[in-house]
Amino acid sequence: MNSALPAIPWDYSPAPETLKVPLEKRYGLFIGGQFVPPRSRRWFETINPATEQVLAEVAEAGEADVDAAVVAATAAQKKWARLAARERAKHLYRLARRIQERSRELAVLESLNGGKPIRESRDIDVPLVAQHFFYHAGWCDKLHYALPNRKIQPIGVCGQIIPWNFPLLMLAWKLAPALACGNACVLKPAETTPLTAIRLAEILQEIEFPAGVVNIVTGAGATGAHLVAHPGTRKIAFTGSTEVGKGIARTCAAAGKDLTLELGGKSPHLIFEDAPLDQAIEGIVNGIYFNQGHVCCAGSRLLVQESVRDEVIARLEHRIRSLRVGDPLDKNTDIGAINSRAQLDKIRAYLACGTAEGATLHEAPGGPLPAKGFWCRPSFFTEVQPSHTIAREEIFGPVLQVMSFRTTSEAIERANNTPYGLAAGVWTDKGARIFDVARRLRAGVVWCNTYIQFDAASPFGGYKESGFGREGGRHGLSAYLAH
Ligand code: NDP
Repeated sequence: MNSALPAIPWDYSPAPETLKVPLEKRYGLFIGGQFVPPRSRRWFETINPATEQVLAEVAEAGEADVDAAVVAATAAQKKWARLAARERAKHLYRLARRIQERSRELAVLESLNGGKPIRESRDIDVPLVAQHFFYHAGWCDKLHYALPNRKIQPIGVCGQIIPWNFPLLMLAWKLAPALACGNACVLKPAETTPLTAIRLAEILQEIEFPAGVVNIVTGAGATGAHLVAHPGTRKIAFTGSTEVGKGIARTCAAAGKDLTLELGGKSPHLIFEDAPLDQAIEGIVNGIYFNQGHVCCAGSRLLVQESVRDEVIARLEHRIRSLRVGDPLDKNTDIGAINSRAQLDKIRAYLACGTAEGATLHEAPGGPLPAKGFWCRPSFFTEVQPSHTIAREEIFGPVLQVMSFRTTSEAIERANNTPYGLAAGVWTDKGARIFDVARRLRAGVVWCNTYIQFDAASPFGGYKESGFGREGGRHGLSAYLAH
């Protein structure tokens, strides 16, 4: 700890969220506009990762269930595609408005089931979800303008598989463009975070969204695999790990299906000596500790110009001491619960590996963490070599790797030295340097003097092992039209 910096005397009173979200004991599959029991007759429990308490039982869709969902989607898609585009838009606008109206409930449920701080689900995730549906509702009857010279024809039934880090936001990224283009969807949420997708299905029923156009099949990896392999799904959209993504790519290639993949990352975050350091520190913190670091585009490799390296490390050390780890439903919490025990074990293994390979761990101090639930304090490593495992592999937790550089060329070479290419960040006072560096970074998104900013109009996606295809904006619409 840097002894020159004063201790942080802040102590907040608890500010727990008071809204109680009612939950059923059991949830079936959402197929053809109805909740139905699974033909597999299998169910699994979904928990609150902050308490390990069971929240509900959820159906596990087997092959026959996935087939029923694809059949329902195929039947509904034709009618949906024939509907006047302005009528499709009305349905999407209505959905967006209802999401806004029920935003508090959705935010609480997202934090309850996923572990993310309510501050984030309330102020970032759910508003962005509504924004995505509003944005794409607006394109429904303007697709010829969005994509001139392109035949406007839906693909058909899309299989969509989403991860646990942004359950409702990833659902919106997948459903909104697909529906705007006249497709029907069968969506599989992640095993650990099915509840907000199920709540969205209830909203679809409530607003009388045409039955069968959206189907939600809960389950584990095998359910996702059935969806990918089903001959009725003509396009697959997947967000998740690179390993699973590669397997899906093989299946889709063999079957001639359209595919977009949004996979992992090890994104470089570059701080030049002329950067506004106060803001840059906030950018670094947001880049790696947002959502407990469960972010595909997290700025997990910090590259700092040597002349300001020590100052950045001292400020960062000071800053992470004020990050509050704890109850996701407390409005003061900065870092909530890790999503699952498996993910916590994975992060702990990387923490041990970093130390064993010779890096120095700086962990935020703090009182005891709750005995129940999955918790990890924010930390960063210094003395990191590019060859270290923690500098190469995606940790997906609140753990940053700090390295340094001397010249711009060295910074770019180090930044691009990764099999991934999802995102990058550059902090500098010089506009010319921003343009020069951003152009030379091999990343799908480059944030300049900011980090992790999402917008429905802005395409997002990666290069190399981070996947291909774009989500959001006009590029994202293009991925949901037939060739
Ligand atoms: P996965 O890639 O396994 O999960 C993503 C989604 O794919 C989930 O819905 C999952 O279901 C499903 N799935 C799993 N196996 C298959 C399969 N064979 N065919 C089709 N769908 C499948 O990620 P994990 O949850 O296992 O996380 C592991 C690591 O992946 C993390 O530690 C992180 O590094 C990275 N990751 C990256 C994400 C990103 O945004 N790029 C998001 C999540 C994880 P189920 O959840 O039921 O297993």
